[in-house]
Amino acid sequence: MVPVVIVGAGPTGLTAATLLAQYSVQCLLLERWQSVYPQPRAVAVDDETQRIIARLGLGEEFAAASRPHQGMRLLDRNLRVLAEFRRRRDGGRHGLPEGSMFDQPELEQLLRDNLKRYRTATLRGNVEVTALTQQTDGVRVDFTDLATGEQHCVRAGYVLGCDGANSPTRTAIGATMTDLRFTQRWLVLDVDTDADLGHWEGVHQVCDPRRAATYMRVGTTRHRWEFALTPGETADDYRHMPRLHPLIARWTADVPADRLQIVRMTEYTFRAQVADRWRDRRVFLLGDAAHLTPPFVGQGMAAGLRDAMNLAWKLAGVVGGTLPESVLDSYQTERAAHARSMIRLAILVGVMMTDDRPLVGSVGRAVLRWLRVLPAFRRLAGSSQTPALSRSALVARPRLGRTLAGQLCPNALLDDGRRFDDVAAGRFAYVGCEQPSAAEQADLTSAGVVVVHAPRGGELHRWLRQARARAALVRPDGTVLSVGRSLSTLHRHLLAFGTEPAPRTAADSDQDLRVAGQ
Ligand SMILES: Cc1cc2nc3c(=O)[nH]c(=O)nc-3n(C[C@H](O)[C@H](O)[C@H](O)COP(=O)(O)OP(=O)(O)OC[C@H]3O[C@@H](n4cnc5c(N)ncnc54)[C@H](O)[C@@H]3O)c2cc1C
Repeated sequence: MVPVVIVGAGPTGLTAATLLAQYSVQCLLLERWQSVYPQPRAVAVDDETQRIIARLGLGEEFAAASRPHQGMRLLDRNLRVLAEFRRRRDGGRHGLPEGSMFDQPELEQLLRDNLKRYRTATLRGNVEVTALTQQTDGVRVDFTDLATGEQHCVRAGYVLGCDGANSPTRTAIGATMTDLRFTQRWLVLDVDTDADLGHWEGVHQVCDPRRAATYMRVGTTRHRWEFALTPGETADDYRHMPRLHPLIARWTADVPADRLQIVRMTEYTFRAQVADRWRDRRVFLLGDAAHLTPPFVGQGMAAGLRDAMNLAWKLAGVVGGTLPESVLDSYQTERAAHARSMIRLAILVGVMMTDDRPLVGSVGRAVLRWLRVLPAFRRLAGSSQTPALSRSALVARPRLGRTLAGQLCPNALLDDGRRFDDVAAGRFAYVGCEQPSAAEQADLTSAGVVVVHAPRGGELHRWLRQARARAALVRPDGTVLSVGRSLSTLHRHLLAFGTEPAPRTAADSDQDLRVAGQ
């Protein structure tokens, strides 16, 4: 029996496999493609997501492969700026650029290469999962070797369905997608050019119901455009440069068409959907299998990585026998509400860009009006910080009032020059304004809880004090479980959950490579 089988090695499946491998949980990753799916899709990530990538051991590699950006602008059809939401490029509350551009196939290759360093993870490409059968103490997974046509089966303790928008795992557990009522067809265009187009280095969202558009520079020479298609139009109408060029000419100005090399042009239907059920007994849904968002705020892949981060430590604790099975119930409670919030934000941006019924006057004035009446939108779009997780057995939020519980603990720089994540390293952490006594420290250590002191004047001290707290218990995924005035007020939670096994780094793993089929 394999403790965990993961269906699909996109960014979500690879992230889940790496995190589980860091906790020494053996897992088998089954993927239809032999190598990375080469087509560009996701291009933007926030700092919370980059923090997860760093947690996988890829902080430096990703920084070298990505490009910090300046934020998002809403523009009118004449490209005049209606609103600007800035992102810090020099490092926000997680010590990372608040937004970066990247290339999804390049990230997936980094993830695959990194996974080879963990001997507890096996990636098997060129296989298709064909059936999942729940049994009393496990799940039977049937799959076909696409090279030979041979049928195989394996028994799994748990199955993670990270198999994308058309998820066979979702069908197998009888879950269905709830439609959040946003469907639009867009043309997606990636272009390489050695010419410097000289635009603001961020996401340009053109609010124009006649032809809403997105533009951003995603790499040194790579540029992404997206254009809303009108009814009856298809991507095929734009296969040839003479038809395509007028769409992008506003950005490319006098750069001749022969210096613009099309990398990819395709049509996507952007949808907003959330699965009604993210789990059936031993089978879970993660990533696009559980939720789909229009890409306007760059949160699709991000949501999948958040799912993996949320579930991996809980599953590792359950598989390792240190956490009760009931902790797995918190996965959907916490993640579904968060995913919905981010999808709603994306829908709002999409509606602002394409709404052809301005409430008053011009589309530009309608957008400004939207912004005035929606402070929640301004707050969300204006910051890279995403909403706190909902109240659950692992997020001790009061029903009323503001709290840090459910938020991410900042990846603060500590007195010794290390960051919070380097010290917590995927374990429970107690963050306190006061140093615990020697006896308390011993208790915490024996429960596997890392102690992080938040001295006066430091970033963590300020973070705790703005919520009138003096201590916080932080989960292995960086989420605050509970806050209080002292260690004793957190004791109940510490006793219940502070026994998580410490994760292993890739360096702990030996070189016994078990990554197959690559
Ligand atoms: C135009 C566009 C722009 C985007 N921009 C952004 C952005 O800027 N930022 C962002 O965060 N997100 C963005 N996204 C979304 C992002 O690309 C997806 O959310 C992300 O790829 C989802 O990852 P995943 O691993 O959940 O699913 P996928 O990437 O779809 O991976 C699923 C994997 O499962 C495999 N699989 C499926 N069925 C089986 C089976 N039966 N057996 C074996 N393997 C199977 C597939 O081969 C695939 O490799 C964008 C998407 C598009 C289309």
